[in-house]
Amino acid sequence: MDAPRRRATVTVPIGHVLLGGDHPVVVQSMTNTDTADVAATVEQVATLARAGSEIVRITVNNRAAAAAVAEIRDRLLDQGLDVPLVGDFHFNGHQLLREFPRAAEALAKYRINPGNVGVGERHDANFVTMVEVAREHDRPVRIGVNWGSLDQALLTELMDDNARASEPRSAHAVMIEAMLQSALRSAELAESVGLGRDRIVLSVKVSQVPDLWDVYRQLAARCDYPLHVGLTEAGMGIKGAVASTAGLVPLLAEGIGDTIRVSLTPDPGAPREREVEIAQEILQAVGLRRFAPSVTACPGCGRTTSTLFQEMARDIQAYLKARMPEWRETYPGVEGLKVAVMGCVVNGPGESKHADIGISLPGTGESPRAPVYRDGVFVGTLQGAEIVPEFNRMLDAYVVERYGGGRRAADERIELPTGG
Ligand code: SF4
Repeated sequence: MDAPRRRATVTVPIGHVLLGGDHPVVVQSMTNTDTADVAATVEQVATLARAGSEIVRITVNNRAAAAAVAEIRDRLLDQGLDVPLVGDFHFNGHQLLREFPRAAEALAKYRINPGNVGVGERHDANFVTMVEVAREHDRPVRIGVNWGSLDQALLTELMDDNARASEPRSAHAVMIEAMLQSALRSAELAESVGLGRDRIVLSVKVSQVPDLWDVYRQLAARCDYPLHVGLTEAGMGIKGAVASTAGLVPLLAEGIGDTIRVSLTPDPGAPREREVEIAQEILQAVGLRRFAPSVTACPGCGRTTSTLFQEMARDIQAYLKARMPEWRETYPGVEGLKVAVMGCVVNGPGESKHADIGISLPGTGESPRAPVYRDGVFVGTLQGAEIVPEFNRMLDAYVVERYGGGRRAADERIELPTGG
């Protein structure tokens, strides 16, 4: 929890969620449904929100999508889900926001891509129209630059300047500078037409990890707006998860980033909420947020004789996940619980002692007993086919005792079957 933070000096409200200042780094995600399909979009937003997405972005790409936005918001509220919705606008946002005031009101923030708001004179006029709608509805905007849709007029201007410079920079450096200037000039323009500093969030997304570090470090040094950070087009599966993690972690460790998104391409049929789980894991791993108890498990090795250890680690992780919706409500702080599930006594007892509660299974040639530690103290051993359910009972009892407001869970305390 002590990672350094580059503080955005302004705090921007996104519905009831606050970005910047001393507020926690926020997890957000984006749907991939046709927004005009209200039922499908509501279902996916609800799934993402229940998985922990604190803000959800939906594309608003045409009149049918814009017409659906208010209904989507209302149906979510009917389900008790007050998750802020962000409208993602490109090309025609200035028209849609004017034509559909209910959508403008239902959205908690508008994402504007300055590279996709028109060219020539229309560029600034369209941008200003969107900002004016934001101002009228008291909504913040994210000025979201993406290198795949960088403002070509601005890039050309900077390339021409660079060509005339006595010591020209690389084309890549100029491209990064164009992204920064696109974001910063747009923010300046937004403020010049009356949008408050506390209604502006910036992002400058690229798809290569070193570029992400470079562009965000420069952006953080040149402004104090809250920053939305993420690697765009991170890719699929392991590659996408690793690239996003590699991109985000150094920045978060330097205090750069007020909200993050993991732009994972899901495998066909894979759950969309995987990107939310990864974002939460990243924030928890760097110590900025706690979402769920952490399970420390060793990788296993030749000292583990069967798949029992892997199955146990998996089952205990699944058990914790299944209990969290209830525990989160009943036992405040349970997100900080640390559980160790280790494969043998080489590192098992030591790791278990460092956890709140830990177990190490017997390795090859070891006595078939699994020592359990609570708060660093050996409390007994488990053995036999009931190790996992018995350990889960001990977990339940520990949670009640530690996070239940001092209540002793007499009825949930267990007698260890062996040892003790
Ligand atoms: S704790 Fe034991 S089983 Fe796990 S990796 Fe270390 S030596 Fe192998």
